[in-house]
Amino acid sequence: MVLDIMNRNKRIAIYGKGGIGKSTTVSNIAVAYAENNKKTMVIGCDPKADTTRTLCGRRLPTILNIIKVNNNPSIDDIVFKGYKGVLAVESGGPEPGVGCAGRGVIVAMKLLEKLSAVGDDLDIILYDVLGDVVCGGFAVPLREEYADEVCIVSSGEYMSLYAANNISKGIKKVKGKMAGIICNCKGIENEIAIVNKFAKKINTKVIGVIPRDDLVQKSEVEAKTVIEKFPESNQAEEYRKLSLSLFKNKEHTIPEPMDDVDFEKLFIDLSKN
Ligand code: ADP
Ligand code: MG
Repeated sequence: MVLDIMNRNKRIAIYGKGGIGKSTTVSNIAVAYAENNKKTMVIGCDPKADTTRTLCGRRLPTILNIIKVNNNPSIDDIVFKGYKGVLAVESGGPEPGVGCAGRGVIVAMKLLEKLSAVGDDLDIILYDVLGDVVCGGFAVPLREEYADEVCIVSSGEYMSLYAANNISKGIKKVKGKMAGIICNCKGIENEIAIVNKFAKKINTKVIGVIPRDDLVQKSEVEAKTVIEKFPESNQAEEYRKLSLSLFKNKEHTIPEPMDDVDFEKLFIDLSKN
């Protein structure tokens, strides 16, 4: 696969319910871009702070933790180099039970800006953002000064579609541009059809489908992406295909989310067919 040679940079914020597969997807597509000589940065905006683990082979120190011991960090203190040269940053979260979970994102963005760490020389910037709540810090990467477009990762399950609908309310509020939904399959019946219908209903599209595959877990135990551990596998190829559709996509919409009553009706409808 060869990406468009046009060196236009892309800044994509990827949202979704916790545990839906954002970090797995983001880290694999980041490697796919790096394989195509795109200078790529991944900014983890989830208090779990594990987006970049499979890129770097270890858990990175987070910006929130770094500034606790060093109040004047340099770029090299907060930006790490992962597999194939992907640049990796983790915002971090508060100690459990203390403070607002989204604060790490606000602090991280301000610091990256101050240090001019997110420069024009980057071809691709991927934000991995927790979407269970779209308030405070978690809404920051929706803003156009940080990301040009937004994607949501969802399976065909109720809670992940519910979260996707909620996230699209946040996107609409800030008039964000939505590129589409990444269907990360859980293996439920008619899953792709369900996610397709949901996407159409909220005025967007499915921009890629990632199958469920045990190779994800086999790579994860070694803190590697699938593309690094199993470069020739079908799953690696699926991540490369997704990276290409995201890169080439020029269609964006402002989503039209449903209220909770309509969402409930739609979900019952989807499950019947
Ligand atoms: P999130 O970042 O949204 O919280 P993760 O990317 O950490 O979610 O994924 C949650 C779990 O699901 C991980 O343990 C991962 O191994 C698994 N997973 C994600 N995508 C797939 C897939 N396509 N096939 C199999 N397992 C997957
Ligand atoms: Mg994650």
